[in-house]
Parts: sequence; C-alpha cells; structure tokens
Amino acid sequence: MHDLTSTIPMLIAINATSQIHLIIGTNSLAAARCTKSLQSGARPILIAPETEDVHFSLKDCIEQGQLQWIKREFQDEDLKTLGREEVDRVVDVVFVTLGGGNSISEHISQLCKRMRIPVNVTDAPDLCSFTLLSTYSDGPLHIGITTSGRGCKLASRLRREISSSLPANLGQAIDRLGTLRRRLWEEDHPQQSEAEQKLEVEDEDVATQSYTFNKLITTEDEQTSKTRRMRWLAQICEYWPLQRLASISEPDIDAIFTAYSRDRANDSDSMLLNGDSQDLCKKKGKIVLAGSGPGHPDMLTRATYNAIKNADIILADKLVPAPVLDLIPRRTEVHIARKFPGNADQAQEEFLQMALRSLREGKYVLRLKQGDPYLYGRGGEEYSFFREKGYIPTVLPGITSALSAPLFADIPATHRGVADQVLVCTGTGRKGAAPEPPTYVSTQTVVFLMALHRLGDLIKSLTDPSTTEAEGKVNRIMWPKSTPCAVVERASCPDQRIIRTTLEHVCQAVECEGSRPPGLLIVGASCHVLHSPEEQKWIVEDGFRGLDDLGVEGDFLSDELQK
Ligand code: SAH
Repeated sequence: MHDLTSTIPMLIAINATSQIHLIIGTNSLAAARCTKSLQSGARPILIAPETEDVHFSLKDCIEQGQLQWIKREFQDEDLKTLGREEVDRVVDVVFVTLGGGNSISEHISQLCKRMRIPVNVTDAPDLCSFTLLSTYSDGPLHIGITTSGRGCKLASRLRREISSSLPANLGQAIDRLGTLRRRLWEEDHPQQSEAEQKLEVEDEDVATQSYTFNKLITTEDEQTSKTRRMRWLAQICEYWPLQRLASISEPDIDAIFTAYSRDRANDSDSMLLNGDSQDLCKKKGKIVLAGSGPGHPDMLTRATYNAIKNADIILADKLVPAPVLDLIPRRTEVHIARKFPGNADQAQEEFLQMALRSLREGKYVLRLKQGDPYLYGRGGEEYSFFREKGYIPTVLPGITSALSAPLFADIPATHRGVADQVLVCTGTGRKGAAPEPPTYVSTQTVVFLMALHRLGDLIKSLTDPSTTEAEGKVNRIMWPKSTPCAVVERASCPDQRIIRTTLEHVCQAVECEGSRPPGLLIVGASCHVLHSPEEQKWIVEDGFRGLDDLGVEGDFLSDELQK
C-alpha cells in the first residue's frame, strides 16, 4: 500500500452497480463487507465451505437471494471465472476477512494485485490495494473518512461529528440545486447535445472557481450574460449559510429560475450578484418567544442574546428593561408593547398581528418578554396562536423574577428546616379580579407577582379571617401577622430595592417608601433566614451590587461590543 507518511491516498467513488464482489470469510466483517457491496448495487458472492460457521446476517442475505454462496474453499480460478461476462469473467473486487496472519490471505492478495483486481484484506494494510471509508450518506451526498488505518473507531466518531454538524435535509437540497443547475444549463445551451452539456458541467466541477467568480455581473457582453446565472448559482452555493441552503424548497427553486430567466438576464444590470439575491426566494418566517430575564442584561441567556442580535424585527413587552433593549442592533425594527391598564388585550392582539405580518414576509421575529415567557407571560397563548397560523415558535427560557428576585434579596426560597416548598402566584387575576389567596403553610415560601398595586387587599385576605367568610370558605388557614416578608422591586437593576418586614407592617412600609415597579412580594419564614429587621418594623436596602465582581466585562456581551 501507499506510504502513509508521505503520500495521500486517492479517494474515489466507484460505481459498483452490477459488479461482482467476492467475499472470502464468514465472520461479522464479511457480513459488513456484504452489506457495503449490496448498498453499492454490486452482486456479492461468498466463497466458504459449508462446514463454516456463517454469520447470521450473511445467512439472511443468502436466504433472501441477495448473496450467492459457493460452498467450498477458494480456488485461484475463481478470480477469472466468477466475474461478469463483459469483463471476461474477471471479478471486480475481492474482500478477504480471514485475518492478516493467514497464508491464504497473502496468496489471494498477491494474485489479485497481479491481475489488477482491487483487494481488501481485513487487518492487513500491506495486503490491501484499497481500504473502505467510514461513510455517511444523505441522498446524493456521501462523505467518507479514513484515518489511514490508524483508528477506525476514531474515523466513525469523526463521521458522526461531521454529519451531526450538517443541517438536516442537506441531501434533498443538493438534489434540488442539482436540478436547478441542470435547468439553467439546458436553457443556456439549447443547441448542445446532452452528452456535451454533461461534459461541461463535469468540467466545471473540476475547474472550481474561475477568476470571474466574484466579478459583478453587468450587461457588457453576450458571454457574460450567458453564464451569469450559472455563476450566480455558484455564488449561492458558496455564500449562502448552509442552513439556508438546506432549507431551499421547490417553490424557492421556481422563484429563482423565473427571476433569473434569460430575458431578464439580458436587459438589466440590477441583478448584481450580491446578497440581495437571497430576497428572491422568500424565506419562511421564523418566530422566537424569548425571556429576557429579570432586568440586568447579564441575566440574558446566550440563546436570547443571539436572537436579539439576529432577529429582523423585535416585539418587546413593556417591562423588558432598557439595558436589554440597548443591545438591539440599530438596523433592527423594534416595537414596545403599548400596554397600559385596560388595553392589555388590545395591545397583545396588535402585537400578534404585527408579528404575523412580518412572518408572512419571511422575517425572523423575536417576541421578547420579561423574565420567563411561560411564567405569567402569556407565552402559552402566543405559542398556540402562532402554531395555528403555521409557525411553530422556538421558545427560549428566561430567568424568572419569581425565583431570581428572592435570590438577589438574599432570600433562599428553600432552606433546610425553614422552607421546603415554593409557591409562585399572582396577585391579580383575570380581568383584574382577586385570585384566591393561598392557605398558610409554615414551611412555604410564597412569591406574589403583580400584587403590589393591591397590596392592602392581598395582605388582608392572607391575614384576616373575616375575608374567608366573605368567600364562603372556611378551610383556608390564615397567615400569622408575624410572618416574615419582603418586597423586592426592580430586582437585578441598578435601582433595585428591598424592604424586609412582616405581614403586619408591610403595607405601612410600602406606603412610606413609595413604589418602584416592577416589584414582587415574598412571604414566608425564609425571608428572615439571612437578614432580618430585628427590632425595626422594616428595613430598606437600596441598590444592586450582585454582579460587580464577576469580571462580566470580559464576557460575550462585551466581546460582541468590541467587534
Ligand atoms: N414573565 C415574568 C413575569 C411577568 S408578570 C417573569 O418570569 O419574571 C410581571 C410581574 O413580574 C411584575 O408585576 C412583578 O411582580 C414581577 N417582576 C418582573 N420583573 C421584576 C423585577 N425585576 N423585580 C421584581 N419583580 C419583577
């Protein structure tokens, strides 16, 4: 075989249709060779005495009539008698799986080499005139890997890594692009015979990019206009993101074909071969519902950050904080929901319709929500809405204020011996009605969102037994007025504020300190685990220093800003 250190093996793809492949050996490797042969359209023949223990998958092939079994030892004559008639009965390929130390292997290898019959002997590189590649196939796409015998496990690992990095449907897309290429070619060369055309197409494969590849297309000469569409197609294949190429559809192809019909090609110089040509084939719109976290831009997930950077249009909720909105590139269209009390439903509907229009224009729409999209964010409703319209959203989680505000306020939502459960609820029900308050559980931490504007009523319903009578219910246990609680506002923002107190004093505290929305109320013994107001009715802590010492400046956000 070739010198592994200095030469490069010639990797070729053989058309093995109808070839005769001899398999000498009966083990699992012989079975693997048989499978490869059959996949390539060849006709394998197994030569092995009947006494041999034949691998079960070989047996299957024999039973199904795919594999002919000649029940005897190999004879030298086999090489020139079992082959196809049109090649004078010489067999096309020989696979020996008897192992390297076997003297028959050596003998067969020598014979084959002398007769120019490609031969492969397992585990004996020196006896092989060719080796098989670890392959991945997707339609017309075939990828083969060899480590030159250094590690077949590694080769299949590499094959997996490479294939998993390719977009789905790539094979289908290659098929479609191939069709487009042929159509363009046929239209440009109507006078040529098919064989001539084929030759030219193949030549182009070899020639790779010509010096005119990146030249702008103008109307200057006949020759240019004749080849412009082919060059344009070549540029698509070169520059379009693989994902986009892989999603090319039949209608796309038709659109490209008509948009670049020869008539147009001759009379316009507007068809410069630049990225704008992508607009010709309309993309399917994409919708992402993403949570932007509690406020601090470093609380964004990387996925949401990428969506912010790449979306064509961003529809943001009113609560999405300014530092997050500041990350939106200037070219991106942004709309902030015009929600105010009383018009929330209308604003929501307006937003959904706007998103839908953009989706139909093939745009990448990002619905940016505060916190997590599925926690009081109407994320589920929006998901159903878009799914019904034929656009299945990608939903990206966000850090919810419900769990991060307690954390930033040094309140461990669960704490051994103090709190073993967390309840997240809303202080505002549908259409502004008050939802049923939770019953008292001494080991529970309750987080109330959207509650501060009706704090008085809420605290009363939690602590005042007379409220249960009004509800006509008696089974709800009241929360003791001494229960620790905290109001956390603008968690993770520079103007974050925490008021630590008890249910008894919380209303008075908020009245005195004023409100700084958005904010939430945390109730439960966990509130005083790490800090407590001691003898005071309440204490106030201002400001947010949580992320000061992390070196966040060196992160992906600032990396991106430096670009
Ligand atoms: N989807 C969001 C919640 C939307 S409901 C999330 O997962 O966080 C809006 C409520 O969230 C507000 O009324 C307030 O109670 C709470 N909230 C949102 N951001 C907050 C913040 N930074 N600090 C405190 N509470 C916040």
